[in-house]
Amino acid sequence: MLAREANEMSESMEAESGVVVQLPVADQARMNRELADTYHRFHIDAKETEDRQKIPRRFNVKVGKFGLAKLLFTEFFKYFGHWDVVFSRPCTYGVFSGPVGGFAPRPELCVGCLRCEVQHPEFVKVTHNPELAKLGDSYLTSKHIATINEESKKGSVPVRGQGYRGRFGGPGFDQMFTDMSEIVRPSRDGIHGRELIGTSVDLGYKPMQLLFTKDGGLLNRPKMLTIQVPFVFDAPPVAIMDGIVPSIYAQAAAEIDTLAFLPSSTVISRGLSSPHVVPMIAPGEIGSIESHGNDTRMIEMTEWNADAWTVVKDHPLLISVRLPFSGDWKSTMMEMVDAGVSIIHLVADHHGKSDEGEFVMDLFQEAHFALVENGNRDTVTFIGTGGIAGADHLPKGIITGMDALGLDYPLLIAMQAHLSGDLQNRDAATIDLPKTLDTEWGIQRIMNLSCSWRDQLLEILGAMGIREVRRLRGETGRAMWCGHLESEAFEDIEGYPGGGH
Ligand code: SF4
Repeated sequence: MLAREANEMSESMEAESGVVVQLPVADQARMNRELADTYHRFHIDAKETEDRQKIPRRFNVKVGKFGLAKLLFTEFFKYFGHWDVVFSRPCTYGVFSGPVGGFAPRPELCVGCLRCEVQHPEFVKVTHNPELAKLGDSYLTSKHIATINEESKKGSVPVRGQGYRGRFGGPGFDQMFTDMSEIVRPSRDGIHGRELIGTSVDLGYKPMQLLFTKDGGLLNRPKMLTIQVPFVFDAPPVAIMDGIVPSIYAQAAAEIDTLAFLPSSTVISRGLSSPHVVPMIAPGEIGSIESHGNDTRMIEMTEWNADAWTVVKDHPLLISVRLPFSGDWKSTMMEMVDAGVSIIHLVADHHGKSDEGEFVMDLFQEAHFALVENGNRDTVTFIGTGGIAGADHLPKGIITGMDALGLDYPLLIAMQAHLSGDLQNRDAATIDLPKTLDTEWGIQRIMNLSCSWRDQLLEILGAMGIREVRRLRGETGRAMWCGHLESEAFEDIEGYPGGGH
């Protein structure tokens, strides 16, 4: 019996006898528990999923055999009988714990803590592995790739236990510091469940006020859908569209309740129509919108075309329109908003740049604040794609004004694709997927990455004291820009660019 039934029962007993009957506390508690158990809490089912191909290890460890032998000789007497201690030193991570100890070190276990080198500089040398540094490019660095690989393997938040060792401030998303001043609030903990933090976002049209007919009928209903994470999967590069990747994206999107954007021709030829797939249709073929069934909820028009929009603007499906950051994109965006487009998908290159070299954090803000000033920001949903290469880029993209972000390269890296050539321009890179790639493995790796990035988003929302990601959109009060802080601190100093009076 649920609480509602219990209330009905109490009311009918009251009505019959005129006396209020309180249920025993234990019964009431049991019924409340049963009611609570009917709620479904969103969860991504992450499972450790082994690599299908090795990526180069992070560090090389070189050990001088003579120095090591001398150390072992001394420790042999000092720790006599405690052989595990003798043979593990000087590394607690197992690098020196193989069958012949440090004489054949296991550098793949090295986390780069440098304890060995600090303690025994005379015979241990730890260096970065140049093979790893060759991966990626100046934007999508080998560190991003190694981190995404680890997140996709384990599905958890990477913890190194060594504090933050990256740079403070830098280009791109590293320009932004986020405000964690609410970290003292222990109750706001979205991962461990003491207090729910929402990561769902709405895409589509929400009326700013409700309009009614004379007889009370609602004239302007919301037209939107909700996804459980503030990110979607952008279409894979054309070069791999024929393989199993589109189907992996479609199924992974369904598993985590988000959307996969795929070319309409691929969706039709592969039978991928579903509520979690967004077919992308060129304006000239927008008449084919009716060919997508199977509960398709949303379509994307691949570029702005006012005539094509007139054909579909009143269609029951949600329609997003893709807008690259090129040329006078802002005027086009305002024209789209005036025409009633409610979902705008802004797209930069893979380095997060417009064709004029501006970075997405500035571009996203420009788009967001243009509508804030216009007084109609809440009538439009922005999806921003391009340059998302790490978990921290999600909240930063949202703070700069996006409702949701599009993932592209991270999904391929999750599946251990090797990217080479031009990694900046869309569809220009050469992509080598693992030869043993299969659908089930690919889906799980993408689910793991999604789980890890969502958990990291929950961490940051918890630390900011924000209870749902919708409230983070455009919250620039939660962020500081490294460049602004430096100017504030140093502008009076002679020699600082723009400073020194
Ligand atoms: S750097 Fe740290 S993890 Fe690496 S071998 Fe030395 S002690 Fe072990």
